Amino acid sequence: MMKHKNTADPSHPEKPERISAIFSKHEEYGLLKRCHMLKARSVSQEELLLLHTQEHINLMQETACMKLQELAKKQDDFRSVYLHPGSYQAACLAAGSVLQVVDSVLNGESRSGVAIVRPPGHHAEEDEPCGFCMFNNVSLAAKYAIQVHGLKRILLLDWDVHHGNGSQHMFESDPRVLYLSIHRYDNGSFFPGSKDANYSVVGTGKGEGYNVNIPWNKSGMSDAEYLTAFYQVVLPISYQFSPELVLVSSGFDACIGDPLGDAASRRDVCCGTTAQLSTSCSSSARSRVWNRL
Ligand SMILES: [Zn+2]
Repeated sequence: MMKHKNTADPSHPEKPERISAIFSKHEEYGLLKRCHMLKARSVSQEELLLLHTQEHINLMQETACMKLQELAKKQDDFRSVYLHPGSYQAACLAAGSVLQVVDSVLNGESRSGVAIVRPPGHHAEEDEPCGFCMFNNVSLAAKYAIQVHGLKRILLLDWDVHHGNGSQHMFESDPRVLYLSIHRYDNGSFFPGSKDANYSVVGTGKGEGYNVNIPWNKSGMSDAEYLTAFYQVVLPISYQFSPELVLVSSGFDACIGDPLGDAASRRDVCCGTTAQLSTSCSSSARSRVWNRL
C-alpha cells in the first residue's frame, strides 16, 4: 500500500506516509503488542463484485499495466484521483485487509479492530473512482458482513471531514445499513460538492430514515460541536438502531492542523465517543466498534 503515490506531486496529502505515521504511533503508544496482528490480503474479484461493476474493476485493473504518462492522462477522466502503476495492487490490498478485520471481529477472534490502509474508499462509487478513492473499502466491508456473515443491521459512521458520497449512494435504499455522516458542507460547495450531503437527504424507499447527514456550513468546527453531534444525534440513533456491527470511516482530516478540513476538533474526542458506540450494539452481539483509517 506504500507503493501508491503521486509522482508528479509528492506533497499531495494522500501520501504513503499517512499509513506509516499511523502505524508508528501505534508502536510508540505500545498498542501493537496489545493487538492481534492480521496479515494483509488482496480482495478477490468476486468480493469486489459485491459492490462494484465489472467495468469499474476492469478499468482499475488496467491501470496496473499503464505507464506513468498514460496514467497521467487517464486520471483526468475522474474527479480528484491520481494513479500510479502500484495503485491497483494497493487498492486491492486495502479492500482485502478491511475484510480480514471484519472476519476477525465477526468470527469472535477480536473484540474490535483497526485497519491501517490506503488508498481510502468512501468517495468511490460503484462505477467510478473519486476523491483519492478507487474501491469503497468500508462499504465493501458492510456488504461482505451482510452476504458472508448474514448480518442485518450495520451502522456505518463516517467522521471524515468530507461527505462519503459513495458510501451513501451504495446504501441509500437499504435499511440494513444505517449511514451516518458528520462533515463539512458549506451549503454544498465543499468537496464532493453535492447537495446529496445535506441533512434533508434521508434515504429512499425502504432505506428512508436510514441515512443521516450532519452537515457543517462553515469551517473551524471544534470539540463542542462534535460532542454535541455525538450526544444529541449519533448516540441516540445508534441505540435505537441497535447495530450488530459498527464500521467507522475514520478519516483524520477533521482534526486540528489538517490542511484540507480546517476544523478544530481533537481526534481523541471522536475516538472517545466512538468507543461508547460499542454499548449501542445489540445485546446479542459482541461489542464491535471497528475503525478504518
Ligand atoms: Zn476526507
